[in-house]
Amino acid sequence: SPSDPTVFQRRESEARSYCRGFDAVFAQAAGSELIDAEGNRYIDFLAGCSSLNYGHNDPDMKTALIEHISGDGIAHGLDLHTEVKARFLSAFETHILKPRNMDHRLMFTGPTGANAVEAAIKLARKVTGRTNVISFTNGFHGVTLGALAATGNSYHRGGAGIPLSGVARMPYDGYMGSKVDTADLLEKMLSDPSSGIDAPAAIIFETVQGEGGLNAASPEWVRKVAAIAKAHGALLIIDDVQAGCGRAGSFFSFEDFGVVPDIVTMAKSISGFGLPMALMLVRPEHDKFGPAEHNGTFRGNTHAFVTARISIEKFWADETFQDQLAQKERIILSGLAAISEMVPGARLKGRGLMRGVDVGSGDLAAAICARAFDNGLIIETSGPNDEVVKILAPLTTPDTVLRKGLNILMDAVRDTTT
Ligand code: PMP
Repeated sequence: SPSDPTVFQRRESEARSYCRGFDAVFAQAAGSELIDAEGNRYIDFLAGCSSLNYGHNDPDMKTALIEHISGDGIAHGLDLHTEVKARFLSAFETHILKPRNMDHRLMFTGPTGANAVEAAIKLARKVTGRTNVISFTNGFHGVTLGALAATGNSYHRGGAGIPLSGVARMPYDGYMGSKVDTADLLEKMLSDPSSGIDAPAAIIFETVQGEGGLNAASPEWVRKVAAIAKAHGALLIIDDVQAGCGRAGSFFSFEDFGVVPDIVTMAKSISGFGLPMALMLVRPEHDKFGPAEHNGTFRGNTHAFVTARISIEKFWADETFQDQLAQKERIILSGLAAISEMVPGARLKGRGLMRGVDVGSGDLAAAICARAFDNGLIIETSGPNDEVVKILAPLTTPDTVLRKGLNILMDAVRDTTT
């Protein structure tokens, strides 16, 4: 049968990261819901790990994609100038860049977040003529060797041995508790030859560490690190692969912090529809790659341009969208506050609509997720020990569905802790 579940055991590598224990074969999805082959419905609080910020199969994107294909629209355009690319670039310029006074150029990279990070680091090295990179504890930037070198948690190295050299991982905001300002520490280390840290080409970080446990940097810390990058002649790279596209409450995770990065990496939800596409935004003066210096056969997915343009126009040209996000954030926060009261020592984590609760142990977090799955909620963990139950519901989840999902989560926490 096409949904024979035993084929997974027989044929699929066991190297899955997400949803390892979810014993169902999924068949359909719409909005914030998935349906398995037996017709059971699940609320999706994983949403492709923030690749589906606008939900599954948004009807407008779906229609546009079907029309594009049925009209023999180009499927693979590589670096050609195409109509769909022009429309996406114009929408991004009009609704995202201009209102934020950003003048960045878009460079499409290979289709993964990791490739955008590779491109960003390479470009920073080319522009500055330096090789060293500063990244942070618990940061996650992807699993290709360069991005992996910048990634904090050695768990992701997968037996590949020591990471590529030339990356100094510094303590992220809050790593030393509230009394130590790790931005001051960074400044001191960079200014002191005895630290052995060479002048960096780039400082790269996420403003909320998605995989690293939903640690949210304070605006002050972000501003300080941006100023340090500038003072030391390093490019500031903000990795918005996970926190971008509205996940942190605004289109860019940094836009309310008064910083403008030299490079922004984006992937996951940028296509709007779950199609693979990644890019980096580059200040024009740093747009220095020559032909073939960072090419890739699948950069700039033409189908993704169709849906990405709609995601920008449908959601980000709508002035009420951000208010809706704020309302959903309040709902999530009140649900999580109730949950954290059930678990002694639990801590709320995250920012915007990337929120979670640190329940203190990976085993408990896994038990909660398994129980939630039995009751129809798909939810995953994050953090160095998978101890944070993490909510990444589509930003478009109706309030009623959001509350329903939170209730399932609450029941799961109650069932596993009492
Ligand atoms: N950067 C961040 C912040 C991410 O969260 C991820 C993916 N979890 C990546 C980079 C890598 O993206 P991809 O999996 O598409 O390579």
